[in-house]
Amino acid sequence: ATGSDIRTWFDGQWHEGDIAVMRAADHGAWLGSTVFDGARYAHGVAPDLDLHCARLNRSAEAMMIRPSVTAEEMVRLVQEGLALYPADAALYIRPMYWAIDAGAGAIAPDPQGATGFCICLEAVPLAPEDATVRLTTTRFHRPVLADAVLDAKAGALYPNNARMIMEARSKGFDNALVADAMGNVAETATANVFIVKDGVVATPIPNGTFLAGITRNRHIALLRQAGVTVEERVLTFDEVRAADEVFLTGNMSKVTPVTAFDEVQYQPGPVAAQARRLYWDWALSGA
Ligand code: PMP
Repeated sequence: ATGSDIRTWFDGQWHEGDIAVMRAADHGAWLGSTVFDGARYAHGVAPDLDLHCARLNRSAEAMMIRPSVTAEEMVRLVQEGLALYPADAALYIRPMYWAIDAGAGAIAPDPQGATGFCICLEAVPLAPEDATVRLTTTRFHRPVLADAVLDAKAGALYPNNARMIMEARSKGFDNALVADAMGNVAETATANVFIVKDGVVATPIPNGTFLAGITRNRHIALLRQAGVTVEERVLTFDEVRAADEVFLTGNMSKVTPVTAFDEVQYQPGPVAAQARRLYWDWALSGA
């Protein structure tokens, strides 16, 4: 990324470019006590920005990192940064906290200690409307609750997801369909998954081990409002193989049809198209 693609809010002001924000002795640099959230600005709107900011503060608390701004203040700061761009900009909005001070036994951050905070705005174009994704299986899976701080969107959770993506790429696919510890479908390395079978939509029921995304929740609500049946339930890999349609949701690309799961092929389908329409109609109506 070049400086002109990035603006950073840090230490009380907006800076041009990709500035240095962390110091060598920061707990986050040392022991990975970092949390982030990811939201989108496109077509002049930042859908569910309030929920993304609120989730960042919940993630921080789960990691014993003291949130240093309220969610409302964070929304205001992001909006201040967005105003620095032309209305047709497409941006990734990434607010982040990290612990500065060590606490108990040094290994824990100090929950009352100093916290680093920045908001990184980065120009990232929206995926083209006809973008699709090909999935494969992976030997890596979601941890169980006792293995990781799963109620935080923590940077430290992502090296395992990186292994999933690398494994999928090495097999010639884009992303992996990831199992939870029980062997049921959880999500992909970067997004939530939905299937459609005989007109009924289904998505894995949150069990605390994968990220029940803000975009996922928004799509469930919008589809149900439009009269579509959406089930949250245990989903098996065989059900994905037998589905009429599969699609992903996430803040970055919103809705992306899946066209392959290993040797099974799908066409981008009508429900993904409807979901995309409903989402942008909702977002552009000033939600
Ligand atoms: N799962 C994972 C692992 C993710 O990283 C993301 C992206 N934040 C999602 C799901 C989608 O969540 P959201 O809709 O909140 O962006």
